[in-house]
Amino acid sequence: MKIKSFKLKLILSYVFVILVSFGFIGLFLDRNLEENSLQNIQSSLIAQAKLIEVQISAESLKQDDVASLERLVKALSPKTKCRITIINAKGKVLADSEKSLEDVLLMENHLYREEVKIALSGSIGSDTRYSPTLKIDMLYVALPLEAGNTISGVLRLALPLESVKNTLFAIRKTVLFGLLFALGLVLVLGSIVAQRTVDPINRMIHVSRKFSEGDFSRRVMQSSKDEIGELAVTLNKMAETIENKIKEIKAQNQKLSAIFNSMVEGVIVVDKTGRIVSVNSTIEKIFGATKDTMEGRVFLEAIRNNDIAEVVNAISREGKPLTTEITLIYPMRRIFEVNATPIFDNDIVAGCLVVIHDITELRRLETVRSDFVANVSHELKTPLTSIKGFVETLLEGALDDKENNRNFLKIIQDHSERLNNLVDDLLSLSHLESKEITLEKKSFILKLQLEKVTSGFKSQLKKMSIEIKNELSDSVSISADRNKIEQVFTNLIDNAIKFNKEKGAIRIYAEEADGKIKITIEDSGIGIPGKDISRIFERFYRVDKAHSRELGGTGLGLSIVKHIVELHGGCVGVESTEGFGSKFWFILPR
Ligand code: ADP
Repeated sequence: MKIKSFKLKLILSYVFVILVSFGFIGLFLDRNLEENSLQNIQSSLIAQAKLIEVQISAESLKQDDVASLERLVKALSPKTKCRITIINAKGKVLADSEKSLEDVLLMENHLYREEVKIALSGSIGSDTRYSPTLKIDMLYVALPLEAGNTISGVLRLALPLESVKNTLFAIRKTVLFGLLFALGLVLVLGSIVAQRTVDPINRMIHVSRKFSEGDFSRRVMQSSKDEIGELAVTLNKMAETIENKIKEIKAQNQKLSAIFNSMVEGVIVVDKTGRIVSVNSTIEKIFGATKDTMEGRVFLEAIRNNDIAEVVNAISREGKPLTTEITLIYPMRRIFEVNATPIFDNDIVAGCLVVIHDITELRRLETVRSDFVANVSHELKTPLTSIKGFVETLLEGALDDKENNRNFLKIIQDHSERLNNLVDDLLSLSHLESKEITLEKKSFILKLQLEKVTSGFKSQLKKMSIEIKNELSDSVSISADRNKIEQVFTNLIDNAIKFNKEKGAIRIYAEEADGKIKITIEDSGIGIPGKDISRIFERFYRVDKAHSRELGGTGLGLSIVKHIVELHGGCVGVESTEGFGSKFWFILPR
């Protein structure tokens, strides 16, 4: 089984060290003490033996005087606390302090006892062995008893080894108690020390776990200056660096995302498998879908447009940039320019960047411009053809035709007049549309300005018996470009007269609200068909082209009105019922 806890490993290693050290100490003490004790006892036995030796008479030994020898051993044994045995040179026991005289006679020959053998050879013999006589372990020391040059016997002293054993047992007990105490101490102190070592590591584990979850705001609390403290400082520095880098990346991402989403162009990023990686908000608007429904899906699943899908496929196949124009029918008809570029990763096409640019307005403006050029050419061509035709007729002889020549010249004059009006209107319009135009705003009484305009139409009004009512109040004044407002009145009143019926009426009145003024020119004329109302303010748009031309209209009057009013920050409108008259109005801020 593998130990997973560092703390447990630490405690177990302490325990191991204690066990090994105590083992060695115990073993060493045990051995040494046993050896030392034996040696000490042996030495003291030898010393005692030497003292007893002198008391043994060579005579009694020679004659095997067992009685006197027995007295001697019995007398000395209690004093020395040893078993004393005297053996003759043949190995026969002559006296033994632990045996009676009768028993001694029965004792077996000791010639082959180890210590006796050594003593008989002239040295001091010793041996440790189990004594079958006394039934305990004994230490024997045997001294040769010399008579002249010969060994006449052996004096043997024996001591039970019990005391040595007892001493050893006591020491072993002490060592064992010491070991147990040390183990207990190791367990308590070791777990405190281990806890102190493990605590900061645990704190670091906890904090680094937070790091791995992406929370780099945490810091490891560590005051110590050791290696663990250094590790904590390094860990904190690392977190700070990563946190700063993440902040930087986030800020950069936010900037990029802001740019990405505020782009007028729609952007789609596709990966090499043909799945959409990301789209910007313009794409959401164009295709009427949300990011969530598009990102991560296969291109055609998310954007059901074969033309763009084909472009994406071509990029993956060929790896070359591509530009094309597509028309989208749904959700509304729009024209787009599609620019697609491959994204390379190590020279391999890893995806595709599609930029979609809405060019509907551009195309519309192009159409408007070409329509305008066509319209202007057409408008100019009609009077010019007439003028050319009549001039040729006059030159070919009609000049002398007294009845018609003035008539022809009158027609040429009318067409010249029309050309002049047309050029004037075109110039006004182009001036109004130019960016440089500035309004010379002044405060003036509206009613007076209107009176000035209506006086210019006196003959026309009289000719058609039209009654005009200026219902504007004297007090109504506005701050505006006087000449331009005069032009607005002129154009609207001109129309109200031109498209009126004989004995008709025109009413001009104003209403005020929210700091704005609404001026209405109401006529009792022919009115405008419902289908034309929405287009009436377009350039050259006329309900009845021929009728308008006949009346000297250019088709630009209302367009000029709209431009002037819008330049003043206002708006224009019309309400009309065919056959009953029209109400043209414009609102200006006061
Ligand atoms: P025009 O030079 O033809 O008058 P405008 O731009 O002033 O050009 O007017 C455009 C067209 O709007 C006219 O041709 C006419 O068909 C219609 N219209 C303008 N004002 C009136 C009106 N008061 N009553 C009826 N139709 C009008």
